[in-house]
Parts: sequence; C-alpha cells; structure tokens
Amino acid sequence: MKLRRYVLAALALLASVPAQAAGDTVALTFDDLPIMTLLHAQSYADYTNKILLRGLRRHHLPAIGFVNEGKFDDLERAAQIDILRQWLDAGMNLGNHTFSHESPNKLLADGYIRDIARGEQVTRPMLAARHRDLRWFRHPYLETGMPLATKLKINNWLAAHGYRIAPVTMENSDWLFSEPYDDAIARHDKARIRRIKASYLAYTAKIVPWYQRAGHQLLGRDMSFVMLLHDTRLNADCIDDLAALFKKNRLRPVTLEKAMSDPAYRIVDPYVGADGIEWLERWSQQLHKELPWDSFMDPPAEIDAEYTRIDHDR
Ligand SMILES: [Zn+2]
Repeated sequence: MKLRRYVLAALALLASVPAQAAGDTVALTFDDLPIMTLLHAQSYADYTNKILLRGLRRHHLPAIGFVNEGKFDDLERAAQIDILRQWLDAGMNLGNHTFSHESPNKLLADGYIRDIARGEQVTRPMLAARHRDLRWFRHPYLETGMPLATKLKINNWLAAHGYRIAPVTMENSDWLFSEPYDDAIARHDKARIRRIKASYLAYTAKIVPWYQRAGHQLLGRDMSFVMLLHDTRLNADCIDDLAALFKKNRLRPVTLEKAMSDPAYRIVDPYVGADGIEWLERWSQQLHKELPWDSFMDPPAEIDAEYTRIDHDR
C-alpha cells in the first residue's frame, strides 16, 4: 500500500514540525485611546492618530486600540469619538480599557466592574453597527486585582460578558519616553525631539530581542507576542522605524486574535498581587522557570529623570 506509506510519512513529518515553526509573530496593541498625551489640544490628538493609522496601514500592521471612554470629555467629545471611528475605518479593532483608567486595587471588585461596564457605552454600539463584537479587555497598569477573590470576580464578570483578557508579553516602556517627547514638541525643541526619538528606538531595539529570548527560554520554541504600546505622538512618529525593527527581528505582525491562538496563552496566570506585571513573568511563576533577568535593561536614566521632572512641573 504505497498510499498508506506516503500518508504515514507525511504525518511523521507534520509531527516533527513544532507548533510555531513559522517564527515569532507579534500583535500590536495600543492603549489609552483616543490619545495619551501631555498636551491638551484636539488638533494634536487628531494629527497623532492620523499619522499613526496611516503608518500602520502603510506597513500592513494589524492593531487594536484599547479605549478609555472617560477621556472623551478631556477634549472635544465628538472629535474624540470620531478618532475611534477612524481606527475602525482603517481596518483596526477596538477593545475596552475601562472608563477611567483606575486600578482594581483602588476601586475594589464591584467598583472596577462598574468602571469596565461604563467603558463600553460608545465602543460596543460602534462595533455592533459594523456587525462586530467588543471582545477584548486590557487591564490599566496590567493590574489584575487582589486578593484572589477580587481577581476571580473580575475575571468571571469579563468572561460572562464575552470579554477575553488581552495579556501583554512584550513592551518597551514607551509611556516613559512619550511625555518628554510631547514636552519637546510643545517647546519646538528639535534637538531634544531627535534625541528622545533616538533613545526610544535604541532602547526598543534592545528590549524587543530580550522578550524574544525570554519567550524562547520559557517555552523552548517560537511564540506569538502581544506587544503593549500606547496611542502617542512618539509611536506615530516612530512607526516606520518600529516596522523595520520588527522585520529585522523576524517578528511577523499578526492580529491579536491570531497571536492569542498560540497555546501559550492557555497557560494559567497564577499571579495575585498589587503590581502590574506582564505575562511572561506570570507564566514563569506557573511553569517554575526563570526568565533571563540578568540581561534585562531598564530604560535610560536620563529619560526616567525627564519624565519625573515633567510630572513634577505639571
Ligand atoms: Zn493604559
């Protein structure tokens, strides 16, 4: 039976191929829509999203934006809501990031759940009008609730309302660079704009491969990453460089849905605590395996200092 032999040979070949043989992939997630910025100008928010979305499309980068509906009234409500529409028009997805970007450690389970429900009043109907579901939830600060009863109550509510938690398995502290960057733009300080951008890209170029090494060390194979970024002018201005960086590191861009089909995302998240830690660290606890912390790099001290100074001056 020649055919049977071929079938068996083909099956053996398939079995020898690891589940994620195609290399690492990455899903881009942008938090704090309609914008995360120091500057209170609708034109700045509109322009930032315009060039960010244009860049994402130019590089065929699928993305999801996580919305804080509480930010609508920070600027012009109708224009802020229109930014969400532009994300959908550009082929991107939207998720819920709570109404007010508060911590479950502060609001406690019931208050936090109310804040999630309040955070979908505009986003859910907007998706429904396009025959789409609101499926994804991202915890602000990656704080998932404590003690365990609080975490479980929140998780159960999310599941009962059709949400899936969007974990974070790659990040580059972009929020830390973005405030000094906004400040430099406000002051028209071109040298400082260039310096911060270069510093951000240099740090990202170092930290992205660290997450790839950490993921490989943990799972012993290629994996699908979910990267946390924020809806900022810095990312809008850096999107060409970020796309090139993903290519250089052989990170193929995919949707969040696709990335989350990696079986790694079925690993239990055992962490219960006040800190917002990302998911490789949670999995390392569950799997009792170390991450390569010795080679982890913090963002540059001068950026940290600039961030602290700006925060102080406000
Ligand atoms: Zn956030």
